[in-house]
Amino acid sequence: MSIQNKQTVLVIDDEPLNIKVLSQALSPWYRVKAATSGADGIRVAASDDPPDLILLDIAMPGMDGYEVCDQLKSNHATKQIPVIFITARNSTEDEAAGLERGAVDYITKPFSLPIVMARIRNQLLLKIKTDMLEQLVSIDSLTEVANRRRFDEMLDQEWRRSVRNESPLSIIMIDVDYFKALNDSFGHAAGDICLKQIALALKNSLRRSSDTLARYGGEEFAAILPNISHADAMKLAEQMRVNVEAQAIIHPRSPLGPHVTVSLGLTTAQPKMHESPAQLLVQADEMLYQAKQEGRNRIKGANLAANS
Ligand code: GH3
Ligand code: MG
Ligand code: MG
Repeated sequence: MSIQNKQTVLVIDDEPLNIKVLSQALSPWYRVKAATSGADGIRVAASDDPPDLILLDIAMPGMDGYEVCDQLKSNHATKQIPVIFITARNSTEDEAAGLERGAVDYITKPFSLPIVMARIRNQLLLKIKTDMLEQLVSIDSLTEVANRRRFDEMLDQEWRRSVRNESPLSIIMIDVDYFKALNDSFGHAAGDICLKQIALALKNSLRRSSDTLARYGGEEFAAILPNISHADAMKLAEQMRVNVEAQAIIHPRSPLGPHVTVSLGLTTAQPKMHESPAQLLVQADEMLYQAKQEGRNRIKGANLAANS
């Protein structure tokens, strides 16, 4: 495994010596991050580079480990990260209290390093499987882009992030033109291959890792573009349109020309705390409808951020 592929363990402990012992044992196998307070630990856990496992001390000044665990489990961004309590408290009540808070394991000090290492390894192997399952349920099996479920999650997440950062958010709804006629000409299986090719062309049009392309359903796709101006989002939508056309997928019955095309509806908004992303979707859908009405193979956009 390369350095980048190493799993990350975050150690939260107010005693630097404990951190040192654990990091020395773990660092040949894992990336190790450390925090000497609960508040710091929560910050590291909620960052853009979250750990795969958290080793959490219970007795700490200020916020204790139980409280840290509660906060991690109540935060959308951190609740999936497994937590192991490592503590000098060894009563069964303490252990039960820890596990009831959602920790996956509870290790009492003084501990035997080989046993701790084995338990950590088990949890990290489990984390790999969980991540793989999470991937599988998030991906559309035909086109291998994000599915509707993942799209809804991402939209929610990016909406909240945009509220926090006071940055704009754009949604593009994309629908294949005269797709039914293509299916009727070449059959459903050929239609499927065409959808895969379109998905790839759309996905390759995106430039930033924070952009998401999803299959919204049937022959409809949707893109989430955080923190981009309406003008730039329009350019990107045009790039998507051009890239699909450039695939030159034969369409024998399209009134628009010999090749498969798409229509796109784009909406840019400045997300607000008390609003939901549903309205943004409705608007983008309305724009898509207009693009269809006005002749297809084109983009219609609305900039709602301009009047906020
Ligand atoms: P428009 O330009 O107005 O969008 O016309 P259209 O024919 O693309 O739209 P319509 O909604 O009438 O038809 C969509 C077609 O997409 C009908 C459906 O059979 C086909 N379709 C939906 N999902 C799939 C799929 O997974 N595979 C294939 N091959 N076809 C699909
Ligand atoms: Mg459709
Ligand atoms: Mg269509």
